Order: sequence, then C-alpha cells, then structure tokens
Amino acid sequence: MFTKTKVAALGAAAVIALSACSSDDPAEEATGSAGGEAPAESGDFPEGSTMAALAEAGSITIGTKFDQPLFGLVGPDGVPVGFDVEIGKMIAAELGIDESGIEWVETVSANREPYIEGGQVDIVVATYTINDERKEVVSFAGPYYNAGQAMMVMADNEDITTPDDLAGKNVCSVEGSTPAANIAENYPDANLVLFGAYTDCLEPLRNGQVDVVTTDNVILAGYVDESDGEFKIAGDPFTEEPYGIGLALEDDDFRSWINDVLEASFEDGRWMEAWNATAGTVLPEPELPTVDRYEN
Ligand code: GLU
Repeated sequence: MFTKTKVAALGAAAVIALSACSSDDPAEEATGSAGGEAPAESGDFPEGSTMAALAEAGSITIGTKFDQPLFGLVGPDGVPVGFDVEIGKMIAAELGIDESGIEWVETVSANREPYIEGGQVDIVVATYTINDERKEVVSFAGPYYNAGQAMMVMADNEDITTPDDLAGKNVCSVEGSTPAANIAENYPDANLVLFGAYTDCLEPLRNGQVDVVTTDNVILAGYVDESDGEFKIAGDPFTEEPYGIGLALEDDDFRSWINDVLEASFEDGRWMEAWNATAGTVLPEPELPTVDRYEN
C-alpha cells in the first residue's frame, strides 16, 4: 500500500511540475487557457476567489480523519494516507500547492462543520456525507464516492444481520455522525453508545461492552481488514452516504471549481489511480460518482 501511495504521489508531483512549467512561459501567460490547448496555470484564478488566495499563499489546510484505514490514517511519520488524503492532494496540486504546502488537521465527525465555519480548515475531505442538514452550515463539492451505513460485529456473532436486530443491543458509533443519527432516529430500541472516533469502539467490541459498531461500510471494511479475522461485516449497507468535500457556506466559485477538478479526475484516470493506490487495495472497484451541482 505504501509503494502504491508513493506512485500516486509521484503522479501528483508530475502534474505540479507541468503546471509550474506552463506558468513560467510568458507566451502561455498571454493566451491563458482561452488559447484552447494550454494547460491551466496555477495562478490563473478569478481575482478575490478562494482559489486565487490559496494559490497565492502556496498552502492549504485540509481536515481529514486520522484513524480510518483506507481513507485517512496517520502513518508512522505523522502524515495521513488514504483515499481522502489523495483527493485532498489532487485539489492542492490543481492550485499549484505541493505536498509540503498542505497542513493536515485531524477532523473527527463532530468537529467538521465547526472547523469549516471557524476557518480552522480550508476544506474537509473526511468520509463526509453530503446531507441537507449539513448544507445549512457548510457547502459540499462532490460526491467523489458513494458509501452506505453498515454494521461490524465479532466474527463469531450470528445474531445480527439487519438493523432491526439492534433492539436491546449495545451499538457503538460516533458523535456527530450520520450513522449515529440514523440509529437514534429510526432504531430507538438500540442502546446507542457514542464516542469521539470510530477506533474508540474497537476495544469495547472486543471485550463485549458493545455488540456492534456501526458506520459506513468502507470505514468498517478497513477495520475488518486490519483485524486479522477478529471482526466481520454483518449484513448489507442500509443507507446512502455520498462523500463530499466540505468548504465554506456560499463559496460557490470554490465549490464549482472543486467540482470541475473532480470531474476532470474522473475522466483522466487520476481518481481511479488514487482509489487503486489506497482503498482499492481492499475494496471492489467503485462506479464513477455523479457530481451534484446543487442550488443553494
Ligand atoms: N459518512 C458519515 C458521516 O459523515 C459517517 C462517517 C464519519 O463519521 O466520518 O457522518
């Protein structure tokens, strides 16, 4: 997984090198992208836009998960790896910002909206479901992946196969997450146990304090993969969790530009390359998502 991640990172570096070349070329500067075939330049953004400000600063702060294998997991060097991390790097690269210009900040489920609203992060790429309630306070580009809520149990547990089996069970999830909200609202007979991050649920599952961990299928798949046969997924996903890139409310130019970046990456293979280097080492190949350019 490390080697493949490095290959993806090299790909991003090559893109940066290309755009750096083009911005040094005064002829291209004059024609810009209106010339038709010239690649977009890193500084070629509307004045006053978030893109122009970030490109000018040469740095971006990205919120991601630090404890979720396959999507965002901090490595021994303190730098996170995973599919969300690759998506963040791709956006940074399109702004002319290389990996040394990215500040990674841990966002857990409950602090994503506050961190965006408070300006602690420029964007959040953190298994972040797009929904109407969250759209009241932040904007979303994407989706760039479609997950679904699922359940994880000990490998020898045969009692639980659908969420209707959760009545009377101790069900672990995370504060501020859509899976926790779904259980609280639609399965009120479950005993919901909430922590700050999903890894906090793993030891209680092992020692029997909780019967089930519930969140998105792809997050659970990462824990199952790391568990050496200890955990398993129970049943099928039972919600839709489209993953978006969170950004400031009403920054429509930035949202639209990130959507353009995502669509270009779907087309030219960078999205699939990022997937294959990270979550694709464990999960099946996903269908290309369809970006939702919703009206405010
Ligand atoms: N995708 C869900 C959410 O955004 C669950 C995963 C998470 O908590 O990050 O709430």
